[in-house]
Amino acid sequence: MPFEFNFDNSFARDMTGFYIPWNGDAVPEPRIVAVNEQLARELGLDPTSLMTDEAAAILSGSALAENANPLAMAYAGHQFGNFAPQLGDGRALLLGELTGTNGKRFDLALKGSGPTPFSRGGDGKAVIGPVLREFLVSEAMNALGIPTTRALAALTTGEIILREQGAQPGAVLCRTAASHIRVGTFEFFAARGQGEHVRKLADYVIARHYPDIQASKSPYLDLFGRVRDAQADLVARWMLVGFVHGVMNTDNTTISGETIDYGPCAFLDTYKPDAVFSSIDRFGRYAYGNQHDIAQWNLARFAECLLELVSPGDQKAAAELAGNELNRFPERYRASWLQGMRGKLGMHDEHDEDLELSQELLRLLQQQDADFTLFFRHLSEAAAGDDEALAGLLSNEASMQAWLTSWRRRLAREDVSQEDRMIAMNRANPLYIPRNHKVEEALAAASAGDMKPFHKLLSVLRQPYTERPGLEDFAQPAPDGFGPYTTFCGT
Ligand code: AMP
Ligand code: MG
Repeated sequence: MPFEFNFDNSFARDMTGFYIPWNGDAVPEPRIVAVNEQLARELGLDPTSLMTDEAAAILSGSALAENANPLAMAYAGHQFGNFAPQLGDGRALLLGELTGTNGKRFDLALKGSGPTPFSRGGDGKAVIGPVLREFLVSEAMNALGIPTTRALAALTTGEIILREQGAQPGAVLCRTAASHIRVGTFEFFAARGQGEHVRKLADYVIARHYPDIQASKSPYLDLFGRVRDAQADLVARWMLVGFVHGVMNTDNTTISGETIDYGPCAFLDTYKPDAVFSSIDRFGRYAYGNQHDIAQWNLARFAECLLELVSPGDQKAAAELAGNELNRFPERYRASWLQGMRGKLGMHDEHDEDLELSQELLRLLQQQDADFTLFFRHLSEAAAGDDEALAGLLSNEASMQAWLTSWRRRLAREDVSQEDRMIAMNRANPLYIPRNHKVEEALAAASAGDMKPFHKLLSVLRQPYTERPGLEDFAQPAPDGFGPYTTFCGT
């Protein structure tokens, strides 16, 4: 089958002034190193057509696909709290939009396709390690049921790129997203006082992501509420699996509510609210336990962009309306998180004591060395009265006994068979997550030309809840010599 995309490019067509049309760099030797066959099918693409030389040329940005309107999007952003009025796609291109077999519209974009007018002195390139890291972790997140951009393909370019860590093979990631519009996209135009652009962008995202509020009497306030809820739910999901994004700048905060830009992200090993992995996050702004506060802070920046639309000419009224909506973030976040915790703890119904029980567990876990993922996984056995595996994880078993007793008493209030509860808990508590040492192992092998560990790890992460013989190693915490673990931005 010839290589063909059915692009329909609404952003290119309708949003002139929000981007710069641009082409990728020609690269010496584009080569596909990984294709996401599952995602290809969801997009109505024939996976084998993505493995051809023609596809490699297009997905590296070297050649232009028919109907593509490659463009670099403009955006600004608050980075570590400081406003940068111009960021934009400095090494990325939006190729076009596709409709998946589920009827939903997706962006298809490249990362690492060469410099653009937004590069600000950067080389516009990406290297193999971070590209495959994003591939692995975003697929893991998707398998965990967490909204995320997804990797369609990873390519090497035949170039050698110099980075702090040394010379690296150049690479491009081809990814999909519900859209690449961020809080920072709004900030770009709001900061320039381009109110009409902000309105146009808001109308576009309402039509694309939240069409049911189009007829609302207060669509812009409703838009804010929807994005608030989407972000609250998203960060709650991160917290429940121990995910640390690492660089929650407003340019990495999507309007769709998808996780985007897997740079220095990592999963918790033991439960520590102050866990930070990123080498550049020196003050712990984006620590695990700060993520919901930061999401709310980012939403405040979004609200500021919308004030003029919410109540034209009356900043005070607008600030009050938007402020009230913003203040509902903690409640939404907590409800979403608590609902997830109920699932993790094997609870079906809602009882008043659940919040306190959940919070008390986390207080106790902080004093233990227990692996976060395995602790929850082994709770299902403990629910059925078998504490052995759980006890093996705890550094201070005695301090946990009172909680376990209260928890079992709480479970006894529900008429659920032990078997059904165990099945439900094992569907809520993953066994396989992208463990930092395993990710590093796969990336090191890939950088040396061996893709086997990458593909193996990917296949493990695709079914995070299903225990399979022979994969014991993938469920284990890092060996003692590994760590403290530090991640670097993809640049
Ligand atoms: P990120 O940290 O990947 O979210 O990127 C933040 C900003 O830096 C975005 O505007 C990127 O386009 C830009 N950027 C990151 N890496 C590069 C690079 N190698 N060359 C040019 N721009 C880059
Ligand atoms: Mg980014």
